[in-house]
Amino acid sequence: MTRPRSNFFPMIKPLDLYKQYLGIQAEIDSAISAVIRSGAFINGPYNKTFEQEFAKYLGASHCVGVANGTDAIEIALEALKLPFGSEVIVPANSFIASSEAVTRCGLKVIFCSCDPQLYTLDIAGLRSAISPATKAIVAVHLYGHPCDMGPIMTLASEKDLYVIEDCAQAHGAEYSGKKVGTIGNLACFSFYPGKNLGAYGDGGAIVCNDAGLAEKCRMIANHGRKDKYDHLFEGRNSRLDGLQAAILAVKLKHLEAWTRKRIAIADQYNHGLAKIPGLILPQRADWARHVYHLYVVRTSRRNELQGHLKSRGIDTGIHYPKALPALDAYRYAEQSTATDMLSEEILSLPIGDHLETHEVNAVIAAVKDFFR
Ligand SMILES: *Cc1c(COP(=O)(O)O)cnc(C)c1O
Repeated sequence: MTRPRSNFFPMIKPLDLYKQYLGIQAEIDSAISAVIRSGAFINGPYNKTFEQEFAKYLGASHCVGVANGTDAIEIALEALKLPFGSEVIVPANSFIASSEAVTRCGLKVIFCSCDPQLYTLDIAGLRSAISPATKAIVAVHLYGHPCDMGPIMTLASEKDLYVIEDCAQAHGAEYSGKKVGTIGNLACFSFYPGKNLGAYGDGGAIVCNDAGLAEKCRMIANHGRKDKYDHLFEGRNSRLDGLQAAILAVKLKHLEAWTRKRIAIADQYNHGLAKIPGLILPQRADWARHVYHLYVVRTSRRNELQGHLKSRGIDTGIHYPKALPALDAYRYAEQSTATDMLSEEILSLPIGDHLETHEVNAVIAAVKDFFR
């Protein structure tokens, strides 16, 4: 029987949550059993503790746990009470949640091109996407690299726009020394298991410095109420559950160490893959702390490179294979697909706290072999 060639190499995976768990097993197991013993499954002390600790970690005043990152964006938008049909600008290269939330709130998505070096919102593109109907910007800190928040906030105050930070890929990233999630009007986090801070299921949070907005978001996420059956308006059910909150509180303690490891791996790639003709490495602006949710390289031979790495047992990803305006979901919108070219060239190399130095070296060697 012939074996697939990849079996001769140890698999190098983009993610290994079981390996991560084994490193923190005692803490996680006792957190889970404490929640079960207490019965605090919804809106209990574990939620409160995690919300306080996450806000403190970021340097924000308020944190509201919700069911997932997509709901976080939707609830944040709803809390702003924008007029029906208002335009909201979203980067063309992101996960669909960033734009889906806009449409679900009865608002109109306007896609904006991305900076060809940093892959986040392009400031000139942003300026030209603004119309009199524009009311908000969703600033996605894509791949873990912050958007250029200075010019974005200046433009927003000039044009009287709200800024919602989509921090789903950027826990702990910084813009000029300030944590992302503390700069815009509201910020949304996802704790999807594979994110830099991930739960063992779905989870999300809204972070802000405005007590009124935070309260509004908390009520929207909990059936429009503050007290048990005293509903002030129709909301929805989107709560972070107690088990996930307790798990997240444990994992938050390790986030900085895991982030430093991601940055060290990125440095190792930057060094090992420097100056290969035909291969573009991710850039980092000098004002940025990049937390490398993804390490995305570019080459015109992307599919070939991906196949070559696969044959060496190295699993890679593509984030994202289609820019949002190129998706069937947005066929109705007839928008420009300015960033389409990028989607043909990008490849995400494995990165994460699970990787060993020798594994990163094996990826570097395999990429070098390909371009040799
Ligand atoms: C993961 C992600 C989301 C959505 O988070 P979920 O928790 O999966 O709903 C939103 N925006 C971006 C950029 C993401 O990567």
